[in-house]
Amino acid sequence: MSGVRVERLTKAYGPTKALEDVTLTFPEGGFFGLLGPSGSGKTTLLRAIAGFVTPDQGRIFIGDQPVERTAVEDRNIGMVFQSYALFPNMTVAENVAFGLEVRRIPGPERAKRVAEVLELVQLGPLGNRRPQDLSGGQRQRVAMARAIVTRPRVLLLDEPLSALDRALRVDMQIELKRIQREVGITTIFVTHDQEEALTLSDQIGILKDGRLVRHGPPRASMTTRKTPSPHISWATRMS
Ligand code: ADP
Repeated sequence: MSGVRVERLTKAYGPTKALEDVTLTFPEGGFFGLLGPSGSGKTTLLRAIAGFVTPDQGRIFIGDQPVERTAVEDRNIGMVFQSYALFPNMTVAENVAFGLEVRRIPGPERAKRVAEVLELVQLGPLGNRRPQDLSGGQRQRVAMARAIVTRPRVLLLDEPLSALDRALRVDMQIELKRIQREVGITTIFVTHDQEEALTLSDQIGILKDGRLVRHGPPRASMTTRKTPSPHISWATRMS
């Protein structure tokens, strides 16, 4: 487990500045909420940390190690996307075991770790089901199990709850937080939903037009202003 630091990170797509001079520390073992309207650079920042996006400038550290030149698979990062991207032809247990197979973890150890992590996400009895036979919330748990079973140094969550309906989403927020506390992995969570960010995060960073405009511990005053603000339009948006 390690903290993450980005320094003066910049990324442009043609004339669009997706990230502009972003410097930010994601504390070790913490739950960091990255908040901002659509197009503010949240996903670009997450993908740069994961290694899917190469920044134009700036540095990325996981723990003390600079990782700008480290391949995605060598950064030891777990990710959960909005779409979950589960393998439909594999069972729950096979989906979770996949990352361990790739890392050539031997069979008995693999089975033990899959069983442990399925217990952690409360899917113990469902290992033989296929993703299409699960509810939305259960699929979300499989995606979490798959991301943490490899014991990553960092967990990146890109709007992982946005496919769920409102009631389930609130339940899963509590679950996500519980799981993150139990495993203690440094977690960076992208959302455009201020309430979700305030509920879950130990620290929050707010991006706007590729720039970091605020960061610190969550306080309602960070995101809700008395004066008219561009934040208001998305701060109150709930899906
Ligand atoms: P967010 O996750 O906050 O919605 P993104 O990081 O996805 O924002 O995007 C930031 C900006 O960069 C947007 O204007 C988006 O259109 C642009 N962008 C992101 N990825 C690409 C890409 N691959 N090619 C061109 N423009 C991109």
